[in-house]
Amino acid sequence: MLTINGNSILDGIAIGTLRVVRQMQPSISNTPATDPEAELARFEQARLRAIDQQNTLYEEALLKAGAEIAAVFSIHALMLEDEEFMGSIRTMIRTEHSTAEYAVLVSGSRHAAVIAGLDDPYLAARSADIEDVTQSLLETLTGVLPAPLQFDQPFILVADDLAPSQTIRLDKKQLLGFVTRKGSAASHTAILARSMNIPALVQCQEVNDNWNGRQAILDGYSGTLYLDPTPQMVKTFSELRRKDEEHRALLTRLRGLPNQTKDGCTIEIEANIGGLEDLAQVEENDAAGVGLFRSEFLYLNSPAAPTEDEQFAVYKQVLKRLAPKRVVVRTCDLGADKMPDYMDFGEEINPALGLRGVRFCLTHPDFFKTQLRALLRAACYGNLAVMFPMLTRAEELEACKELLEICRAELQRQGIPTGPVQVGAMIETPAAVLNASEIAASCDFFSIGTNDLHQYLCAMDRQNQTLDSFSDPRHPALLRAVEWTVQAAHRHGIKAAICGELAADPTMTEWFLRIGVDALSVNPVSVLPLREQIREMDLMGVFAFMPPEVRFTK
Ligand code: PEP
Ligand code: MG
Repeated sequence: MLTINGNSILDGIAIGTLRVVRQMQPSISNTPATDPEAELARFEQARLRAIDQQNTLYEEALLKAGAEIAAVFSIHALMLEDEEFMGSIRTMIRTEHSTAEYAVLVSGSRHAAVIAGLDDPYLAARSADIEDVTQSLLETLTGVLPAPLQFDQPFILVADDLAPSQTIRLDKKQLLGFVTRKGSAASHTAILARSMNIPALVQCQEVNDNWNGRQAILDGYSGTLYLDPTPQMVKTFSELRRKDEEHRALLTRLRGLPNQTKDGCTIEIEANIGGLEDLAQVEENDAAGVGLFRSEFLYLNSPAAPTEDEQFAVYKQVLKRLAPKRVVVRTCDLGADKMPDYMDFGEEINPALGLRGVRFCLTHPDFFKTQLRALLRAACYGNLAVMFPMLTRAEELEACKELLEICRAELQRQGIPTGPVQVGAMIETPAAVLNASEIAASCDFFSIGTNDLHQYLCAMDRQNQTLDSFSDPRHPALLRAVEWTVQAAHRHGIKAAICGELAADPTMTEWFLRIGVDALSVNPVSVLPLREQIREMDLMGVFAFMPPEVRFTK
């Protein structure tokens, strides 16, 4: 088996036979034309036919990929009217007595080379459009048409390059994916392939003619082509592809629909993220917003504590991109298993019970204020909520809020704008559950961290795998604590969400709805499966405490 890397333009998996297609290049000589006027007339005719062709491709793309993508071909038609580009061809025919073909070839290559040399990668990728337009002129002038890209069996296409006009004509029924030696992820070919949902790799330098007929797996997630895969790999990737297809079907069916049961009970489903790289997933999976931004990853993924400006830039980007959806940023929950090398937590015998979450932050107020200031500044750009981890009592929450207001006053004195923020409490210690009423009176919402709540309620280290046989993620004590917390929130008129892993457990969804949980915050890929499940449910108006029977038999 051979492993080959390329740049992936779409997540997805294709498994099948490779078909190598060679582009047929007409041979064009630079022998001078005898009748420049006749060449000019041939060129004008070819140009008009090429414009017609682009208009037909526009109609085709409109049906297959929508208006935004189809616009690529209107741009191509405009290029064929462009005075500078077309003018340079006419000048070559007139002054150098070139044949129409030769003038198109030389002028097209020159234009494409100039564009390809631009610094901006998006603009540079437009050179592929010039090449495509040049090719369509050459085809109409020479009558040499591109190789047909049709086979009677499903296949993965291998080519040196693919033009947008070829890509839109690919028969999706047989085409599993494509691999090209050239091309860029910003090209219109890549944009088209994405909109047609075709996994593809570009810039795959090793593309080789002797691949024809060989089996391969194209893994768009990692940008890898596996040539001659083992049967075990085919099995593993077939399973991944099946899951992928299921997920895509969910996307098409459920995007934009409410998380509502048949009898009208609704719940918000938000996403858990660790940084900017997760935003595309939040959008793609149609999450209601971000219910947990684990901001400590900004600290863990950098060689030194991120400055106020660095953090501000990240929060601002997240908020702007998701506005008006709400983004809940959890202030940095460092300590225990999350200790950056550059920070000193002192010697701790039990770090999980040590200086973590707000305990660390409150004992290092200057460190904490850097984050709070960044958050207050970013709040001007979207819908921000801030929540505090590892609280045990209302007084700790009050101390965090006080520091937040000190930061706001300081920023205002400095003339730096700040925005409104909602304040939430993470309920993830047994003490916070027992003090839920007092904490609820001091904040705008709860988010229940069932991962830590389970660990601390059951006195079971969440890192210790040897405890697996004792550990029950749906432990009755945890479920009771969740229900108690939700009730305390509602008594104080605030909402309660769940952001630990339990939120995505489909066996718990119905119970969460019945006890009145207001929101679930889950890994983005779990949003739509949960939505599907909820939309199938009918609670028949019964919203009382109904624990799963197997758990509460007494
Ligand atoms: C939790 O404890 O449930 C939680 C969501 O936070 P983390 O897993 O990051 O500790
Ligand atoms: Mg936690």
